[in-house]
Amino acid sequence: MTWNVSKVRADFPILDQKIHGKPLVYLDNAASAPRPRAVIDAVARYESESHANVHRGVHTLSQRATDLYEGARSKVRDFIGAGSDQEVVFTRGTTEGVNLVMAAWGRANVREGDDIVVLRSEHHSNFVPWQALAIEKRARLRIVELTPDLTIDWNSLKEALSGRPKILAMGLMSNVLGMLQPVAEIAAMASKAGARVFVDAAQAVAHLPLKLSELGPVDWLAFSGHKMCGPTGTGILWARRELLEQMTPWMYGGDMIRRVGDQESSWNELPWKFEAGTPNISGFVGMGAAVDYLSALGMERVHAYERTLTEKLFAELARVEGLKLWNPPLSLGGARAPLAQFTLEGVHPHDLAQFLDAEGIAVRAGHHCVQPLLSKLGVPATTRVSLSFFNEPTEIDFLVEQLGRARRYFA
Ligand code: PLP
Repeated sequence: MTWNVSKVRADFPILDQKIHGKPLVYLDNAASAPRPRAVIDAVARYESESHANVHRGVHTLSQRATDLYEGARSKVRDFIGAGSDQEVVFTRGTTEGVNLVMAAWGRANVREGDDIVVLRSEHHSNFVPWQALAIEKRARLRIVELTPDLTIDWNSLKEALSGRPKILAMGLMSNVLGMLQPVAEIAAMASKAGARVFVDAAQAVAHLPLKLSELGPVDWLAFSGHKMCGPTGTGILWARRELLEQMTPWMYGGDMIRRVGDQESSWNELPWKFEAGTPNISGFVGMGAAVDYLSALGMERVHAYERTLTEKLFAELARVEGLKLWNPPLSLGGARAPLAQFTLEGVHPHDLAQFLDAEGIAVRAGHHCVQPLLSKLGVPATTRVSLSFFNEPTEIDFLVEQLGRARRYFA
């Protein structure tokens, strides 16, 4: 495959700098991805030429702002293959998407004695809201365990779905394990058992073509703009129109109403029923530009290039003495996010991250918002390296060289 990585890198101004006198090697993409110039420029252009409030105004600027804001919605619709703009709700991010569903659907539908099912590998943002709902409703939070190779334990899933499952919440790609979960099979089992299915696509959306039609009987899907080269404070919640229509609003205020009376009010059409208050207009203009940018690169091509990086990353890390990977082995096959988490014998992950930062390498150390998983594995913290389509194979070589140095230094 031809992938002109130098040309792609040049799209990201932030990469062209030195950290502690060394060229920046950005390997923390799973936490947040840099923005390409196209996104930065689209936001700046909007702010300097078109900013006004959306939906309400008759004047030219308001119409321009509304067109840009709503235009971004249509771009996202096409990007994920949603049925209509009405199914694309703008949020602040994945976390808000989960909380919206928990509040607007969960509170109305989950009752005492019901089961809420989550995977062991969920990010806190797709775990804690369900845990809170379970406590509030006296429901049971059931956790689907992983096998020793860190993939789904199908027996545990069957067991978790054997009671009164109301909802199953799962990440499409864990932010520390990286592999693509067999979502269609899991969703089919959950749906057959009578549960609704919520999918957290925060990581997956940045690494592969995401087509709703290929995910099986999924009811909701959420992701964040900042993981896919868009601005922070932008996110998407998708659900089918009929389901969104059944759900009551979870936030009240301007823009989400049709008519306000003294004692009661009625709600705006979808998706605005779930978008109370003045939204993050410039953010979504940037999100639209991010979708254009990724679409022009081609998510199939992005995924193919990142696959070569992932293979190299795993092969090189395997050569580092004293390094233990906490990921499902690559030999299992399947699609992956280009990331790995590991521990290095004798070196605390935070010390390692600091050591690497001194060399210009940005990685993440800690619990990565997956404490239920790391506690179960018995590792309080790991170091995570997460790549993107602008990373070069030589950056992996440099990382591995520095890991060897770190080991000798801390020994
Ligand atoms: N889910 C996963 C798998 C993530 O990696 C993250 C962010 O790290 C989130 C959810 C939460 O995303 P946000 O903080 O953008 O709401």
